[in-house]
Amino acid sequence: MIKVVKFGGSSLASAEQFRKVVEIIRADPERRFVIPSAPGKRSKDDTKVTDMLYACQAKAAAGGDYGEELEAIRLRYGEIIRGLSLELSLEGEFDTIDRRLREGAGKDYAASRGEYLNGIIMAACLKCTFIDAAEVIVFDETGNFDADATNRRMAARLEAEEYAVIPGFYGADASGRIRTFSRGGSDITGSIVARAVHAEVYENWTDVSGFLIADPRIIPNPVGIDTITYRELRELSYMGATVLHEDAIFPVRKEGIPINIRNTNAPEDNGTWIVESTCQKSRFVITGIAGKRGFCSINIEKDMMNSEIGFGRKVLQAFEDNGISFEHIPSGIDTLTVFVHQDEFMDKEQKVVSAIHRLADPDTIDIESDLALIAVVGRGMKSTRGTAGRIFSALAHANVNVKMIDQGSSELNIIIGVRNEDFEAAIRAIYNIFVLIQL
Ligand code: ASP
Repeated sequence: MIKVVKFGGSSLASAEQFRKVVEIIRADPERRFVIPSAPGKRSKDDTKVTDMLYACQAKAAAGGDYGEELEAIRLRYGEIIRGLSLELSLEGEFDTIDRRLREGAGKDYAASRGEYLNGIIMAACLKCTFIDAAEVIVFDETGNFDADATNRRMAARLEAEEYAVIPGFYGADASGRIRTFSRGGSDITGSIVARAVHAEVYENWTDVSGFLIADPRIIPNPVGIDTITYRELRELSYMGATVLHEDAIFPVRKEGIPINIRNTNAPEDNGTWIVESTCQKSRFVITGIAGKRGFCSINIEKDMMNSEIGFGRKVLQAFEDNGISFEHIPSGIDTLTVFVHQDEFMDKEQKVVSAIHRLADPDTIDIESDLALIAVVGRGMKSTRGTAGRIFSALAHANVNVKMIDQGSSELNIIIGVRNEDFEAAIRAIYNIFVLIQL
């Protein structure tokens, strides 16, 4: 059996954290492939090494003296190496980074060095092979990740290794140019490795014991989620649950490999299991609640809209032509509403409005801003009557006016639109009615 283990930045922020990680890996010989992030924050006000590298590159690119910035990064790694009493010098590596920065290396190259150097340290700790992710994670010339080529190359390379460290977050294109995933992308690397080696589980170690039913900044000490399906997680992470990079489920999903979110600082906790499907009932009807502020709705009215074939397409054309993606489109007989991200829409609003008039000839268009969307997600909702009823009576009792309701066809989620200022009260009301009441 093979376990792939990925450790986030806060799990590798200092020598002390590294020691915990090494202990976790050594506790189970099946933990064979390790994906480290770059050193993260050691305390709330600290800076992540990735951010330090971006800052360094920005200065270098502007022709400035980045010596101080690079020295601060060298010191962070020096501290970790000394704290672990390793016989390892990264001086040669830093000379190369310095030279490449002087030669005009790009952002991706600079940012990737955080994971690259941490990978070298991790391999030295574990006394195992270090594999540069540039050799095994393939991007195309436009910077898009090539999943199939990567899977082939990764599988072939890892077949020969019993234990190895592969740094997260980056890969390279055919010309050898370093490319990174978006921020938090080491989660994706872990998932790619798990797929390539047909792992039994992809353990993703971080600084929390898994997903919580609701955001702890809104609900004090919310209950944790034991098991969640990939699809439920997609809904929640799209709406802002941020423990795992939202693209990280795709590679493992292809193989049905579960992801187990674990806490490096509390390894005894079971964490959250993310699975394809399960017959395990969740403890509550809902699995989780997440939401985002900052939407606006474009409400379009036209008499007899219901009988006009092609009306919806023409309206959406106006958004497409302006490069705006829509979130939801609830409709009535003579009305159609389009929900969009306010910051994407704001600059182009008048263009979109006139395009809708030109293309669809509506009677009126009315824009409402400062709305929030809340997703109530749960595989249990399908087989439970009255879920929507409970949500809306809870919201009514909390004096929250519901602006929009949308139930996905999968019956996996109910999306509710409320005013931005009602966002937290709405989440609290929903949590209370489904979770708190049952504790
Ligand atoms: N180090 C990168 C970041 O800070 C990638 C990661 O940690 O997953 O975004």
